[in-house]
Amino acid sequence: MIIVLPTAVLLSTSVASHADDKCRYRDRSVGDTSTETKLLSKITNMNSDSKKSSHHSPLGVGGKKFLDENFLLKTRTAKKLYRDYAKEMPVIDYHSHLPPQQIADDVRFQNLTQAWLYGDHYKWRAMRTNGVLEDYCTGKKNDWEKFQKWAGTVPYTLRNPLYHWTHLELQRYFDVHDILDPGTAEKIYDDCSEKLQTSDYSVRNLLRRMNVKLICTTDDPVDSLEYHIKLKEDARLPEGRGLEIHVLPAFRPDNAMDIDDPKKISNYIKKLEEVTNISISSFNDYLNALKSRHDFFALAGCSVSDHGLEEIYADDFSDSEIDSIFAKIHSGKTLNEEEQRKFKSAMLIQFAEWDWQKGWVQQFHLGALRNNNSRMLQTLGRDTGWDSIGDFAQARPLAKFLDKLDQKNKLAKTIVYNLNPADNQLMATMVSNFNDGSVAGKIQWGAAWWFLDQKDGMIKQLNTLSNMNLLSRFVGMLTDSRSFLSYPRHEYFRRILCDLFGDDIENGELPNDINWTGKIIQDICYYNAQNYFNWQQKLRPEIMKTTAQE
Ligand SMILES: [Zn+2]
Repeated sequence: MIIVLPTAVLLSTSVASHADDKCRYRDRSVGDTSTETKLLSKITNMNSDSKKSSHHSPLGVGGKKFLDENFLLKTRTAKKLYRDYAKEMPVIDYHSHLPPQQIADDVRFQNLTQAWLYGDHYKWRAMRTNGVLEDYCTGKKNDWEKFQKWAGTVPYTLRNPLYHWTHLELQRYFDVHDILDPGTAEKIYDDCSEKLQTSDYSVRNLLRRMNVKLICTTDDPVDSLEYHIKLKEDARLPEGRGLEIHVLPAFRPDNAMDIDDPKKISNYIKKLEEVTNISISSFNDYLNALKSRHDFFALAGCSVSDHGLEEIYADDFSDSEIDSIFAKIHSGKTLNEEEQRKFKSAMLIQFAEWDWQKGWVQQFHLGALRNNNSRMLQTLGRDTGWDSIGDFAQARPLAKFLDKLDQKNKLAKTIVYNLNPADNQLMATMVSNFNDGSVAGKIQWGAAWWFLDQKDGMIKQLNTLSNMNLLSRFVGMLTDSRSFLSYPRHEYFRRILCDLFGDDIENGELPNDINWTGKIIQDICYYNAQNYFNWQQKLRPEIMKTTAQE
């Protein structure tokens, strides 16, 4: 690409390069010596310097400082609730996409780009929207070049949750209180990268820093779970040498139901045969093989399943229909839509019954329209930031599915998450149809998820849950993230939660009973999840330790 620059800029940048080219945190081996990069870097620094004095004023017009200790907390009561009840509660992250291998190996990232930008499709989407080429998001540019583009994008993310998350993460993990922009990029990158290379910033210590006590990862039935097994052994090491954070697998059989592409499902069946040593030629074989993996996951400490679906499938089917549909799958034939729906309906009921038998919690993430950009799907693969909210009809099939299981008295504890905010009230009321008194909040409407995981989305979810269900029985927040730096999202949620209660108390809409409100807040932050998932045994000693230290 040829960049045409004004003569004055060309003259002033003729010797432009960073003074500390030797810096070990910035790999300058790819393309960074080009005149283009040097000039662009100089220009962004110049622009940023000229803006600095005006936009870094510490106080807003209303006298509030950006992201200070009272961030998102308007009232005196909200501040008290957060400080005295929510802030110190440990974190249970019952749904995440963290790679167990990195925890098992206690990986250290070499620089901030690796920790922050690798695998983060939220940031890639913002960069693309800001006019950044793919090479700087997922492509071959080096880590420092990618970081520069992210730093150049951040000032344009005002009012997007990324702006809050970015600066919360810089503060909480790195004690960096500067605003990230092209002018501060170099210092922030170097300071954070230097820290990340130390043992204090290994991934286990990043989790400890955020008071995380338990994590569920997301795993395919054919996964060997070798890293979970290693982590379990690690937990038995003497204190100080092992890992005290519980890292549990979660059974996510989406690929076992993904029958749209005959080649893909055929490969999956082969893989399942290898892993289980079960030869699969009928639907019954297929179920036996998957069930053996479900049992294996349970042995590895799993007690949670998860499904990512556009909608629940609850079509009627007969056993013979499913047998012949599987025969078609097995012989590599393409299924029509009706056959696909029947097959998925049969699979979902089967998974749900296994979850019920073992006392697991089943989760359903509903409503994403995925991989909309076929060109980018071919180039980059799935989960690279080309998904959006879909408009599937959720109510009828969800009611039918839960009812089918309830009729047989085989309905496991269930959490349902919607991606389309138009379904909020639908979900809040639907889940109450199937509570049977066996456990508080048996059927849960899950936290605001993905595109809704921001201030507005969380407030709407919490308010709707309050109005149409029992907020007090909510199992609360999860990160649903691929990044070890995402844990301040729990803090973000807790601040919003305390602010809502604070408003109501100060408006006289709730009694000024701080102890009871504080107890409810602690339940939503921690205890409800601990009890709902039956993790009391795993977590109780940790809580006692926390209380003793206070
Ligand atoms: Zn997820």
